[in-house]
Amino acid sequence: MALIVQKYGGSSVADPERIKNVARRVARYRKQGHSVVVVVSALGDTTDDLIELAGKITDCPSKREMDMLLSTGEQISIALLAMALHELGCDAVSLTGPQVGILTDASHMRARIVEIDGRRVREELRRKRVVIVAGFQGMDAQRNITTLGRGGSDLTAVALAKALSADTCEIYTDVEGIYTTDPRIEPTAIKLERISYEEMLEMASAGAQVMQSRSIEVAGKYDIPIHVRSSFSDNEGTWIVKEDRSMEDVLIRGVSINKNEAKLTVRRVPNKPGVAARLFRRLADDGINVDVIIQNIGRSAATDISFTVPAGEADAAVRSLRGARKSIGFTDVSKDTNIAKVSVVGIGMRSHAGVAATMFEILAKKGINIEMISTSEIKISCVVARADGERSVRALHAGFNLTKRSHARR
Ligand code: ADP
Ligand code: ASP
Ligand code: MG
Repeated sequence: MALIVQKYGGSSVADPERIKNVARRVARYRKQGHSVVVVVSALGDTTDDLIELAGKITDCPSKREMDMLLSTGEQISIALLAMALHELGCDAVSLTGPQVGILTDASHMRARIVEIDGRRVREELRRKRVVIVAGFQGMDAQRNITTLGRGGSDLTAVALAKALSADTCEIYTDVEGIYTTDPRIEPTAIKLERISYEEMLEMASAGAQVMQSRSIEVAGKYDIPIHVRSSFSDNEGTWIVKEDRSMEDVLIRGVSINKNEAKLTVRRVPNKPGVAARLFRRLADDGINVDVIIQNIGRSAATDISFTVPAGEADAAVRSLRGARKSIGFTDVSKDTNIAKVSVVGIGMRSHAGVAATMFEILAKKGINIEMISTSEIKISCVVARADGERSVRALHAGFNLTKRSHARR
């Protein structure tokens, strides 16, 4: 019999009926004789609601206290799921991240897992219990509660699958798997049978929230196949796996959009060596993540530099730079939150030329202006106006022929 790790996202446990639905599925696997470890997220939008609640108390809450607050969401769902399983006559026990022994570093709100002491989970499994683990949380060496970044329950599941040497890691969500793009934006998007770790990582970091990018990094590192599927059906979903040769035949696997970034422009930066280094060092020291960067050609003694940051870090970035205006020597910094980043991803890009040109042509035909461009080996991203974001996704999806079934199968 197998050891199965299953993760259920917030939408799958949004209300009592859905929790009972999850319990029925878990009980079915248990009845078949499998050992089941279940990771659950907070109910529905609980995490967003808790963040909003903190915002009513203060504009800059302590990150430690945010973790204390946010971790309560998952504690509610594990207890309710355990009760629902008991109702079905299925022995189950709920455990928080610290009770499981999920040890993390001390970076609150985006902690990294250092190690998992699987002893308690194994002991409960030996007693034939279903073990329900609170996703998204752990504790640091000082026993402070930490959280693993938004979407972090995916990481809890993958890391537990690794620590317990599980046979299967299943991620249950509100869609049938990974699609060629977000099916909420493009209803003709097609469910993929397989996608490589590398492509999924690029799609996730480019905004496809269906999997947390860090969880894919870990899955790829240890080669843990992940089955992403729906908690509302028994259909086969999408397998996230190691790439193989046949996957390279597809040029573009998918299109992602990120509406959660802001563009900052630093004006009249002195055009001399060391200035960009000082500017970005300052941001890095303040813990701000910079994404796409462009620097205009400086025909005079000064130039403009634009870059994107997560929307939630934009004000902090402006504050951080304004504090260094005199020492770095630029005139001003402005913020534009009306942007979206659209990206096309595919390992086939490595061996095909002209993908960027095609992408720009598709956008040009729709009259969409490109504000910034960045590329990696298997991804091309364009920053466009927020109002053009979803339209760009639909145009790229159609322009790269992603609705054709053959693309999904390989
Ligand atoms: P959960 O609550 O299960 O963690 P999320 O809301 O985090 O679920 O992720 C699922 C959502 O991700 C879907 O409802 C879908 O709208 C969105 N999504 C974005 N891009 C994709 C994609 N390429 N394939 C599937 N879903 C996607
Ligand atoms: N509840 C957390 C969040 O909303 C973790 C998760 O859902 O994976 O980000
Ligand atoms: Mg999620």
